[in-house]
Amino acid sequence: MRRAASWERARRLRLLLSLSLGSLLPAAGGALALRPARAEAEPAARGAVPRPLLVTVDDLPVASPGQHRDPDERERITRELLAVLAKHRIRAVGLVTWSNVHGPRDRRLLERWLEAGHELGNHSDRHLDYTATDTTAYIADVESGRKELAAFLAAHDRKLRFFRFPFLREGDTVEKLRAMRRYLARTGQRNLPVTIDNEDWSFEAGWVEARRQSDAAARDSIAVEYQSQLRLEVRDHEALGDELFERPTPQILLLHANEIGTAQWDALFTGLARLGHHFAAADEVLADSVFAAAHEYVGRYGCSLWHRLDDARRRRGARDGIAQLLEASAAAWNRGDLEAFCADYAEDALFIAPSGVTRGRQAVLERYKKKYADHAAMGTLSFELVEIRLSAGMEASVLGSARPARVQSASVVARWSLAYPDKPTATGLTLLVLRPLGGGRWEILQDASM
Ligand SMILES: [Zn+2]
Repeated sequence: MRRAASWERARRLRLLLSLSLGSLLPAAGGALALRPARAEAEPAARGAVPRPLLVTVDDLPVASPGQHRDPDERERITRELLAVLAKHRIRAVGLVTWSNVHGPRDRRLLERWLEAGHELGNHSDRHLDYTATDTTAYIADVESGRKELAAFLAAHDRKLRFFRFPFLREGDTVEKLRAMRRYLARTGQRNLPVTIDNEDWSFEAGWVEARRQSDAAARDSIAVEYQSQLRLEVRDHEALGDELFERPTPQILLLHANEIGTAQWDALFTGLARLGHHFAAADEVLADSVFAAAHEYVGRYGCSLWHRLDDARRRRGARDGIAQLLEASAAAWNRGDLEAFCADYAEDALFIAPSGVTRGRQAVLERYKKKYADHAAMGTLSFELVEIRLSAGMEASVLGSARPARVQSASVVARWSLAYPDKPTATGLTLLVLRPLGGGRWEILQDASM
């Protein structure tokens, strides 16, 4: 996976972070002993069972192809990456971007991955961004990559099983998301998610430049940033996965087939093993039920599976909270408690009815009191939800990666009905704009009732 995000922006963020964590960083080299991002015990102390972790490597045969046009350099990078994987007895899944495969020498590099016991999956042909491509063109490109790789694998008695979305972007509308899921099911490809997203790719340009300039100080500094960022991303994503499932969760780490990996993976893998990870093959990791959890995350930017599931959890929570508010509000009305009925309005709420505009909770309460002078006139109120739309954009983590933001507001359309024992039911529609107060509570900012 590559992203178009600004290397400089990510680098500035990381510099800020390493400055703020400077006192925690060792001088140079080796596995870093950063303190975890969140206060927590070392995994070794939490439990003896090692956490399965699948290593996945994107953009094979060599990522950032613009940086590495020389076939000898590509060959060296591949050989060194495979040596580190072998040293740590890791069986990885490599995701092939077919347009990165230039001729027989690059095909030979893919063969080396197979010979070393790794599995290869499809990462499309031209690495398109699904949020900027229509479904037909996107599927055509993914299918083109699938055909090439499937034929290559068949010649080596292997089968293609996995697909990974370029940029981790699975679609910006639910229709696009579902169309790709149907296509993947039809062609026997499984979407291989990422649980530990990070920005490892963003270090490559600076790393290669430092090597070409023989700038050892720059390389040391990039190495420290790389290790600290990856370590923090691992801890941060794991903490979220464990919170979602209330147990230690298996993980899928995203890395890229790049030159910085040849120098930095060894320390990274040593650090991961010390943190209680056990490098596992795809089947062992994917057998865990966490990977069967459903979501339909729709967004402009790619993010980890945990963030998609967290977003789904937040949205469920928001819908439940809003449904409870409407239920409690009808109950307050039906017992004649207008004070409680109006308590959900924000102090500066705006109420709009065909008769005009009322500003403020107190004025809304006065209006209701005047209109419904006695309990009998109030009837029995019920709501039927027509639609809830939740608003949640993206936010950047402190490390610079995009993730879904919390739900920031909701608009609700509902049909209200007032039933009376002695006259016909009155009914109409209402549009509410709400804002979350935390703890599952909401307040009404605007109410247009008709
Ligand atoms: Zn990629």
